Amino acid sequence: MFDKILIANRGEIALRILRAAKELGIATVAVYSTADANAMHVRLADESVCIGPPPARDSYLNVPALLAACEITGADAIHPGYGFLSENARFAEILEDHNIAFIGPKAEHIRIMGDKIEAKRTARRLGIPCVPGSEGGVSDTDEALRIAREIGYPVLVKAAAGGGGRGMKVARSESDLEHAIATAKTEAKAAFGDDAVYLEKYLEKPRHIEVQILGDGKGGAIHLGERDCSLQRRHQKVLEESPSAALNAEQRAEIGEICAKAMRELQYSGAGTIEFLYEDGRFYFIEMNTRIQVEHPVTEMITGVDLVSAQIRIAAGAPVSMDQDQVRFFGHAIECRVNAEHPATFRPSPGKIAHYHPPGGVGVRVDSAVYQGYVIPPNYDSLVGKLIVHGRTRNEALMRLRRALDEFIVDGVDTTLPLFRTLVRNPDVQNGLYDIHWLEHFLATGGMDVDG
Ligand code: ADP
Repeated sequence: MFDKILIANRGEIALRILRAAKELGIATVAVYSTADANAMHVRLADESVCIGPPPARDSYLNVPALLAACEITGADAIHPGYGFLSENARFAEILEDHNIAFIGPKAEHIRIMGDKIEAKRTARRLGIPCVPGSEGGVSDTDEALRIAREIGYPVLVKAAAGGGGRGMKVARSESDLEHAIATAKTEAKAAFGDDAVYLEKYLEKPRHIEVQILGDGKGGAIHLGERDCSLQRRHQKVLEESPSAALNAEQRAEIGEICAKAMRELQYSGAGTIEFLYEDGRFYFIEMNTRIQVEHPVTEMITGVDLVSAQIRIAAGAPVSMDQDQVRFFGHAIECRVNAEHPATFRPSPGKIAHYHPPGGVGVRVDSAVYQGYVIPPNYDSLVGKLIVHGRTRNEALMRLRRALDEFIVDGVDTTLPLFRTLVRNPDVQNGLYDIHWLEHFLATGGMDVDG
């Protein structure tokens, strides 16, 4: 096992990792930018090292500074959290060269899954169902027209180097396609410096369902069920739950086993998430995230498995600590990502938290790194914290969420708490009747009072 882990992150995920390390009896090193000198992860870690000024590229993405911090403190492993360097294959290789363990998958797997076309090719080879589309990139309009005719309209033109939903264009007919390709290419070139595009069938009203897996890197892997993250705004997840209201136990076991089998074949190591769009009873692979995800707590709540602890143990060479038939799913969990943003306009609202009172009680978990008097810096994401509730049934979880949201006080900055208080009372949300466009539509049709 490791002696000391350096946490190359900040905010709630830095705290989450710190807690897992402490429970494993491992010493912790926090790193921080000058904007984060008063941050909770710095206060709770055994040691801390300042690694640079506020901009992330000079601090949390500063690889030489992170290596120096390991050298100074004698840390023998780095946990990257999510974002920042978590899906940087080169970083994983550099750590290997310096004999520091990267708590994450093999660099090779990060690289494959970071390339959309390669990821899809690999998924298909491993028997994971994919969206019908071009095999690789499309080079000219004639080829695109032929493929689109085969898969049927509408089709989606996507940038190979895409991310954050940029460089995507829908074509509803042949006459749209040429224009869609041209604009997608221009956007992709400007955003990513690479104008390669590919085609996929466009799904009109899918849900976003993702499967959590754990692999030991030696051919062992299990799945821990799914998360439904269909409530999104601008492709950003807003609320996540498990199990999905759209799946039954049989479907869960089937897609879960397809994913676990694929990860055994890949000899994947650590935690990973295989993301799908789900429509009319079918799953379509969109991407794999080779890291811990923001929404991992919903899976922890219904399985009792500490995913971050599992990541650490696997990186230290341990096998996955349970067999598939030992995984038990109990009850229902829902997570709300509470951001420091206006609840209707989503304008970021950094600043000082004047009053802070998180909810508590049975089945309530708050993963947050803020405290009363804390100043949310403007330099990073606007997550205030994650409210996660667990209940024996979806209905119990919803009622618990409603009362937990009513208890939650964050004053001094705008937060998205009012949005969640509205959502939890909405009949479609209560009935689980939403696809990935539901929230955008709800907001566009005045679901939230803009003055609210
Ligand atoms: P990015 O890396 O840019 O986020 P993704 O491939 O993950 O790109 O897609 C982002 C989002 O775009 C998905 O979460 C989904 O909402 C939508 N999307 C992607 N592919 C399709 C498709 N074939 N049909 C409909 N919507 C899609």
